[in-house]
Amino acid sequence: MSSYKINEVFESLQGEGSYTGLPSIFVRLQGCPVGCPWCDTQHTWTVDPDFEKTSDSVMAEKQESNSWFEHSTEQLLDLFNRNGYVAKHIVITGGEPCLYDLTPITSQLIEKGYSVQIETSGTYEILAHQDTWVTVSPKVNMPGGKHVLVSAMQRANEIKHPVAMEKHIEELDSVLLLLGDSPKPNIYLQPISQQKRATELAIKTCIARNWRLSLQTHKFIGIE
Ligand code: SF4
Repeated sequence: MSSYKINEVFESLQGEGSYTGLPSIFVRLQGCPVGCPWCDTQHTWTVDPDFEKTSDSVMAEKQESNSWFEHSTEQLLDLFNRNGYVAKHIVITGGEPCLYDLTPITSQLIEKGYSVQIETSGTYEILAHQDTWVTVSPKVNMPGGKHVLVSAMQRANEIKHPVAMEKHIEELDSVLLLLGDSPKPNIYLQPISQQKRATELAIKTCIARNWRLSLQTHKFIGIE
């Protein structure tokens, strides 16, 4: 039975990309070696055995922490029930969820009638049920030294790229080259930290390239 190291589980609205506004259950997995300097989930980077706790204890925490618990999909489904979650869309995020083989969890959730989305940096092979919606947010030249994989770019149902300056557009262009002449999925630019200059750059580039703007709407309306 496969199990996963989980940093947090919560129900909210998807705030980004194609599924913006959809009620969703977020499952944040622990562990990420990519090392983005602006990462807003740095507490998920390491899987420290000293911080393994029970699910009840982690779920009761009011603040972000590097605590985690281990659950199988069956245990997760039970946790959804016990918490009264009703959303039918699951977002598996991280950390870097593709550190794990996500085939068992995505398959079991889809069999149970959920739609499933994963959010990944594209630097690990994506192992997931074929109906999983894959959001690749390609991380280029990050301190962890990981490289975006061609297979991840080809598997992407959407590409979502945080931007603050021109060099981020150039980085995106460099990974889009991995797709060659293949059709491109929808591309979203997401201004980093709602900065004014980042937003202006994203708007200008989206119009010029016929790309789409993704705002972190959950941050504007003050939800998780
Ligand atoms: Fe953070 Fe995601 Fe970058 Fe990992 S890939 S460091 S979780 S932003």
